Amino acid sequence: MTRIPSASFTPWRHRAKLSLRGCGIAARSVSNRFGVLFILLALGAGIPQALQAQDEAIALSNGVAVSNLSATTGESLDYYIDVPAGTQKLTVTLGVNDNGDPDLYVDTRFPPPTTGAACQSVLAGGNSETCVINSPTTGRYYIRVLAYSSYSDAVLTATLSSPPGAPTISQITPGDGSLQVAFSPGAGTANSYTVSCEDPSMRSPGEVLAFVTEPETAGFSSAVMQRSSEEARGQRFDNAKAFHTSDLFAKAGLRCGTMEYNGARSPMLNSSPVVPLRGAADCTATQTTISAEHVQPAGQVVRIPVYFHVIYKADGEGYVSEARIRDQMVVLNEDFAGANGLSTQDTAIQFDLVYINYVQNDYYFADEGAGGIDKYALTADTERYMNVYTNDAGGVLGYATLPQSGAGGAGDGIVMRHQTIGGRNNGYGSYDEGRTLVHEVGHYLGLRHTFNPEGDCTNSYTGGDLILDTPAQLNADYGSRPSTDCGPASAIENFMNYSVDDAMYTFTSEQVNRMTCSLVNYRSNTYASSSSNTFSASGTGSPITVVGLTNGRAYNCSVTATNSGGTSAASGVVTGTPGAPDVPTTPVIARIDTGDGELNLSITVTDTGALAITGYSATCTDGTRTFSATSATPSVTVTGLTNGVAYSCSVSVSNALGSSESSAAVTSSPEPSATTLPLWIFYEGVRANADVTDSEDEGSE
Ligand SMILES: [Zn+2]
Repeated sequence: MTRIPSASFTPWRHRAKLSLRGCGIAARSVSNRFGVLFILLALGAGIPQALQAQDEAIALSNGVAVSNLSATTGESLDYYIDVPAGTQKLTVTLGVNDNGDPDLYVDTRFPPPTTGAACQSVLAGGNSETCVINSPTTGRYYIRVLAYSSYSDAVLTATLSSPPGAPTISQITPGDGSLQVAFSPGAGTANSYTVSCEDPSMRSPGEVLAFVTEPETAGFSSAVMQRSSEEARGQRFDNAKAFHTSDLFAKAGLRCGTMEYNGARSPMLNSSPVVPLRGAADCTATQTTISAEHVQPAGQVVRIPVYFHVIYKADGEGYVSEARIRDQMVVLNEDFAGANGLSTQDTAIQFDLVYINYVQNDYYFADEGAGGIDKYALTADTERYMNVYTNDAGGVLGYATLPQSGAGGAGDGIVMRHQTIGGRNNGYGSYDEGRTLVHEVGHYLGLRHTFNPEGDCTNSYTGGDLILDTPAQLNADYGSRPSTDCGPASAIENFMNYSVDDAMYTFTSEQVNRMTCSLVNYRSNTYASSSSNTFSASGTGSPITVVGLTNGRAYNCSVTATNSGGTSAASGVVTGTPGAPDVPTTPVIARIDTGDGELNLSITVTDTGALAITGYSATCTDGTRTFSATSATPSVTVTGLTNGVAYSCSVSVSNALGSSESSAAVTSSPEPSATTLPLWIFYEGVRANADVTDSEDEGSE
């Protein structure tokens, strides 16, 4: 650091503790060239000390040390530094190489007050001092070095820290599950850079839409709210257990009202099958293809925002407290994370409660069942939220739309019998662990029941529950013991069985695969969200490689730079798509320029196969003789040709993995006079030839 002779920077000195002749104005030392004059002024005219001293404070330059400072007890040295807009931090250091104890006071006021300054560094031992002011205001800061005791050989430095300028992405090179991002730095010095690549198809976690407040009418007794007597299909039951164990409950299918088959049998909509958002899906209403693509990368969690509608009667029946809903959310997330102590199957799907909509409406409370649509007047954007309605659910415990038949429709969502909502041991008989909602969410994410209502023991990707790792099962299990109608013991532990709540505790890996597939293909532009849809990596320079990405998905990447002053603005966004390296795609001939006995071919390749192109080659033939040439650039000149003869030319490109297929052929003829004609004529000519060639190709195929 530059050392500047102290004499030229020694500021005004004054001794606050010593006054002359009782006038109250500080006497000043005579160690600078104005000293004598100011003593005279001070003695004679009584000019206020502050004005004089402020004028005489010495300017500091950012980062430039002022050395050899010394003073005796009580003496002050005053400096200032001007802080420009955008400064993140002002750091003032005072290094004392000798004995003594100077103190630092830094403030926008002059003189900096000895109590209440923006920063004051008062170390008892007489050691070096440091003052740090974060986010200083724009303008002048005064720095007073006050000698608590005499000192010498001190060094004062004021440093302004600002974040670096935003970098610029120059290139993104795809790799297998990764993107290598090259960039150029912005202004200033950066200590590190961070690249972030975001999958825009994944939404950010559901934001809480409003403070959830229970209505003032919430003083219902729990007896009324959960009403112990049950009425279903005209029959009354004394309590939940009697209802759950009745023939009606089993034979009328009151455990779950979800219809699993096709759009026409969807309970909530008379909808047609939903077209997958991403084209052909691996998980239609009638088949599943288990794919590694639907295994969530480690650490990635899909988050789904949940919008509750609590529909209750005027007398309080059906009222579900906020606390019960929050308990329900906890167990829902626990079961989906495989974190219930029994399951080891983490679905990597989680849920965020964003709103509770309390609606007192006796009519909506008596659920209209599958075809009814009245309550959907309450619906929150089905393209954004998982709507959960609680009411009497028409006598069943719950029902849901399958994404393959209901995603995004007006009635898309889940209807729950209100008593099932809650945490563990919530009091609702055999279904008191909050797992009815877990089961219905399984449907909502595309799962069928583990058993087969079609009445056979099919276990395939096109029959039964459309997956293999749940055993074939003929009939629903209503208790806690597996059945063996199809031979192997049924999956009593599976959430998609009809087991009682304390017997079911897990999904299978293929169920998770189908759920993720359903999200990606039917709900990814709507509900799917992720707490980690952004993947980042840091380094000290370009390039930086971000890993853990999914091949084939487009990621929006940007770069920031950081130093002690903070973090820059983000660079512009550049999109990259990871993919396994491959040979380049088939190039095209963008243009042919004719020359004397030669043709020059300009080559365009859209996908380099995630590797750099290592060579370009061209071949031209008149039908009997073939001429070839190569180049390291996308411009290849084939020579040795005969003027006026038509040559059919094609090109290919290579990378480290090999060569592309040959391009479509384009016909052209070398002409000695070619270079004297405007290029557009040749361009048009090439286009005309290309058109002819294309149509010939089509005709031959
Ligand atoms: Zn079900």
